[in-house]
Amino acid sequence: MYRLRIEAKFDAAHKMEGYQGKCSNLHGHTYKIEVFALAKNVDSIGISVDKKVLKETLQEITEKFDHSFLNDFKEVGNPSMENLARYIFENMKALPSGATLEKVRIWETPTSWCEYFES
Ligand SMILES: [Zn+2]
Repeated sequence: MYRLRIEAKFDAAHKMEGYQGKCSNLHGHTYKIEVFALAKNVDSIGISVDKKVLKETLQEITEKFDHSFLNDFKEVGNPSMENLARYIFENMKALPSGATLEKVRIWETPTSWCEYFES
């Protein structure tokens, strides 16, 4: 098997509705998104998945979040790491043929991340 990883970053503000603590105040993060894809085979030139296609797909999903207020995106729900990771995973599912989406990891700070995958 082959595992590929791409990443994207965006800056955004949010507040955690219903949270008892500082995270319920308006604040911002530089989010880092990692997408992991699996493939079984390579093509005639030795490529399993076109990284360019993966990056463009991730960029299409995340560019609307850059310099935004994440709570405005009702389709995400309360903008926790968990909800953002699941949203990105569900919108990355249509990968190039031969590739399977393994997981999405989202870093909210340099010391904390959340992964979403289907078991
Ligand atoms: Zn936060």
